[in-house]
Amino acid sequence: MRYDCDIVVIGAGPGGSMAAKYAALGGLNVIMIEKKAEIGAPLRCAEGVSKKWLAEIGVTPDPKWICADMAGATIRSPGGFTFQLDESKAGAEVGYVLERHMFDKALAEQAAAAGAKIMMRTGCTGVIRDKGKLVGVKARTMDGEIEIYAKCVVAADGFESQVARWAGVDTTLDAKDIDTCIQYRMANIDIDPKYCEFVIGSEAPGGYIWIFPKGERIANVGIGVQVAKCRHGADPKYYLDKFVAKDPRLRNGQILEIVGGGVSTCPGLEEAIADNLVIVGDAARIIDPITGGGIAHACRTGMYAGKVLAECAKKNDFSKSALKPYEKMWRDRMEDKLYLNWMAKERFATLPDDVLDDLVKIMGNSDIGEVNVHNLLTAIKAKYPKVVEGFEDLI
Ligand SMILES: Cc1cc2nc3c(=O)[nH]c(=O)nc-3n(C[C@H](O)[C@H](O)[C@H](O)COP(=O)(O)OP(=O)(O)OC[C@H]3O[C@@H](n4cnc5c(N)ncnc54)[C@H](O)[C@@H]3O)c2cc1C
Repeated sequence: MRYDCDIVVIGAGPGGSMAAKYAALGGLNVIMIEKKAEIGAPLRCAEGVSKKWLAEIGVTPDPKWICADMAGATIRSPGGFTFQLDESKAGAEVGYVLERHMFDKALAEQAAAAGAKIMMRTGCTGVIRDKGKLVGVKARTMDGEIEIYAKCVVAADGFESQVARWAGVDTTLDAKDIDTCIQYRMANIDIDPKYCEFVIGSEAPGGYIWIFPKGERIANVGIGVQVAKCRHGADPKYYLDKFVAKDPRLRNGQILEIVGGGVSTCPGLEEAIADNLVIVGDAARIIDPITGGGIAHACRTGMYAGKVLAECAKKNDFSKSALKPYEKMWRDRMEDKLYLNWMAKERFATLPDDVLDDLVKIMGNSDIGEVNVHNLLTAIKAKYPKVVEGFEDLI
């Protein structure tokens, strides 16, 4: 069976739905395909987001997809030192703990309302070229094979993205730029339901442990570890089980759900466009290299892509050169921070536990404003210059 449209979007995650919505709002005929049977499920996320960026993408907070409203965050060092800060200062992953299965569906509903056609259980299996030009994708549906012809393909197929690679873009990741994660939804635990917690240090080599509350006595408890830094293979479960067994608050917890997945921790693809192709969100490796938070990044890049596609349609030109405004938009908004956090991630990962204890003590006694890498380094440099030896160039 053959379908024809202006834009085919591969993947109905936040990036895909935002691209589909804004392209459709621009008057384009959009098909979005999703290989899974349900948008937003199974979960592969800790569901933490800040509140600030929602207005930027034109989305109004809705109790349907907000599970818990956080007062702030606690950062815990290997030696058990903590420092707590309120939500407005807590950085990009603290504010709401979402119900991702509802959030992702809400974004897809908005895409549908804007006029996009959504095809579920439709997995892209390859791209179609005509005399070398990208003209669409092949997909497998419950009823058989189909071909979707389009003027432009949006690769929004997440961390394991294949579409961009099939279209000729190198998306290979270095082992040091991959974190592998596992998360338990734990019930019957003794946590503060108003604070997201981040545990740093050798308990999570090259990454961190998170406890993101989903209500009273229930939370997403997870870990991300850097593949290149793991002594026990790239097995995050080994480290998470050790942490859960040791922490008295979690010891009597019961696991309701297990989530696994990977995140990239590099500063984004060198180019997220090619002729007749735009790459958004995790597929473009546009995700915070320190926190692994990428919901906001996916939404922003999806929105930028949809808007730029609507402009390209006016001249019926979807060449790489016509798509350049997309590159400019996401880089202007996010590139500096992605690079800074990418470089800082490597440096932070080399710090021994006793230094991290000191850092958390310093942070507790500083007025650092919002927690971001630049402010952290500045505060540390002022009070503890020895700790930032070799870091100065980042500040
Ligand atoms: C364990 C874990 C915890 C995380 N926690 C957080 C957090 O707390 N906060 C945060 O901001 N970010 C977090 N992230 C990252 C966040 O989940 C992603 O950055 C975000 O989902 C990216 O959105 P996306 O639309 O680019 O990709 P995705 O949400 O991955 O969506 C891609 C979609 O494409 C579909 N797809 C894939 N291949 C095909 C195909 N061939 N054909 C059709 N459809 C296809 C997939 O089924 C999926 O629905 C976490 C990630 C992991 C793994």
